[in-house]
Amino acid sequence: MSLLAVGTVAFDTIETPFGRAERILGGSATYITLAARFFADTVRLNAVVGSDFPEAHVDLLRARGIDLNGLVRDGDGETFFWAGRYHYDLNQRDTLATHLNVLATFEPDLPASYRDSRIVCLGNLDPTVQMQVLDQVDAPELVVLDTMNYWIENTPDALRTVLERVDVLIINDAEARELSGEPNLVRAARLIRDMGPDTLVIKKGEHGALLFAGETVFSAPAYPLEDIHDPTGAGDTFLGGFAGHLARTGTTDPEAMKEAVVMGSALASFVVEAFGPEQLLHLPAEALEQRVRAFYQLSAIPEGLALLSE
Ligand code: AMP
Repeated sequence: MSLLAVGTVAFDTIETPFGRAERILGGSATYITLAARFFADTVRLNAVVGSDFPEAHVDLLRARGIDLNGLVRDGDGETFFWAGRYHYDLNQRDTLATHLNVLATFEPDLPASYRDSRIVCLGNLDPTVQMQVLDQVDAPELVVLDTMNYWIENTPDALRTVLERVDVLIINDAEARELSGEPNLVRAARLIRDMGPDTLVIKKGEHGALLFAGETVFSAPAYPLEDIHDPTGAGDTFLGGFAGHLARTGTTDPEAMKEAVVMGSALASFVVEAFGPEQLLHLPAEALEQRVRAFYQLSAIPEGLALLSE
């Protein structure tokens, strides 16, 4: 199945307790497509960059088979820029700068060749822009959306409108609590699914992810890592791996969704090991396979666990 990702292609400046990287390649659409291309044959990117965006970055994406017909260059401005600083608890991050630049006037106009996309990944963006993209896709089989606290707080109505057309929402635990106004995640999940998305994934950082699909509740661990250098893009990578797996298998039932959560988690566990999307650019498929196998070990409950009644 073809997969379309809309989001940001960005310059990121990142500080973590373990180092700093200045104006490196980043953005939600970058991470989503670099992750999805491990699984899906047709991965399409829709985003805007400015006059300062180097052709070498474009080549990096093109060389990984990503369809860039929808990567628009706006010569009148600069590329979206984001700067963030992580605390010792890497789940805590402060945004130091968000310069929308060319994103401020971006109105998505999908190439005709993108309109038959089967899976649409709406990366973190203004929900009005996410909706504009959705309006231009003919009849997507699955719509997956990511958002963040900024949109939950500042554009709640637009977010609610787009959520009505979303099949899978992927957010973190703090966002789930904020969106639903409910501290208990199981109750929050019910309230959020009533807003539109049949399926909900709640990411819990180093504590894994919870999937609510149909009657199914599934919990996947995060891979325990000794060296985490930069969590930037882990959420987007998860989304790209999740949606990419569904595109590859061509199924969207709850069992496929469970597998997709494991694929997303496995891929995200690599991206945090280095700054920026470095790991995603160079990861051999065998290494990913090996890590997926490790997930089986990680949470396998021993067969024949003696129950109290036995
Ligand atoms: P994540 O760590 O998964 O939340 O994704 C981080 C990526 O999102 C970075 O590469 C940023 O360039 C991008 N990003 C940060 N803030 C925004 C925003 N307000 N809108 C869209 N993309 C953003």
